[in-house]
Amino acid sequence: MSLIVILKPGSTDETIDRVCGRIRELGLAPHIARGDLRTVIGAFGDEAVLKQDKLEQIDGVESVTPITKPYKLASRDFHAADTVIEVRNVKIGGSHAAIIAGPCAIESRDLLFEVAGWVKKAGAAILRGGAFKPRTSPYAFQGMGFDGLKLLREAGDEFDMPVITEVIDSRDVSRVADYTDILQVGARNMQNYHLLMEVGRTDKPVFLKRGLSATVQELLMSAEYVMSEGNHRVILCERGIRTFETSTRFTLDIAAVPVLRRECHLPVYVDPSHAAGKRDFVADLARAGLAAGAHGVIVEVHTNPDKALCDGPQALLPVEFTTLMQQLQHIATVCGKSLS
Ligand code: PEP
Ligand code: MN
Repeated sequence: MSLIVILKPGSTDETIDRVCGRIRELGLAPHIARGDLRTVIGAFGDEAVLKQDKLEQIDGVESVTPITKPYKLASRDFHAADTVIEVRNVKIGGSHAAIIAGPCAIESRDLLFEVAGWVKKAGAAILRGGAFKPRTSPYAFQGMGFDGLKLLREAGDEFDMPVITEVIDSRDVSRVADYTDILQVGARNMQNYHLLMEVGRTDKPVFLKRGLSATVQELLMSAEYVMSEGNHRVILCERGIRTFETSTRFTLDIAAVPVLRRECHLPVYVDPSHAAGKRDFVADLARAGLAAGAHGVIVEVHTNPDKALCDGPQALLPVEFTTLMQQLQHIATVCGKSLS
């Protein structure tokens, strides 16, 4: 169990400091959420200590209530309003949606710049590209590593788009963070707790993908790992889960979108590319994702998918992506969101 300490409206920094100080004296970790009207402070730690202390009696405190859910910082109990994350003028969350697109992997400068030009023109807000690829086979292309990251940064700057890339090793986190605007933690690493804590110590938003066989609650607990290290800028992504169905690569759990949106305040994305595994189904799933309430989709695009070094069969051609963007624009409007 943990507690949330709700301060009286208009609480001063002094009150906040006093409450946080008392929470620290108890050996607990305070986490502050500043709302428009009220500030809320979470006190997380040992249940026995929490029960003994009378946090209600501290001057400036209005009430103290328990959070019974296993995820605390990620829960709506702690932070009722949608979190909006801003990266280089692109807003994600609440009424703001933004589309992420680009190649699965950074393969060469030419390919990356060509795809970046197309997706920018079509209206994507953020450029994706993997430099470290977590492949099923150790013999498959593993990505260009830091050379690829430099190209991604260059492309982001050239086309004025924030960039996102996956980090797969906790030892690489700070170096990868030097190049990217958003750190992606892939499905296979959703429960790599050391990696989660390491990205939680950076100041870059973290795009956290649901594990292949992880429940929604487990995804939220992984977000909690990142947030408990101080980084509250987490974006969740439903990317398809393992089921008995074999007609698509994974099964897109579309219901996870409204469930996540109810349970937590963080932005929610859908990845139709890895879920479908086949180009023909990507646009349908992307539209469904946005219609279900997602704040965006992350889509793989390639100019020559037959020659792609990774995930070619699921990559959209630029022309297909352009049509999809036009449709997503309409769906976003119907859902009350504006697309960056
Ligand atoms: C990716 O986005 O390229 C990727 C590897 O995704 P996932 O971790 O969801 O498989
Ligand atoms: Mn991929």
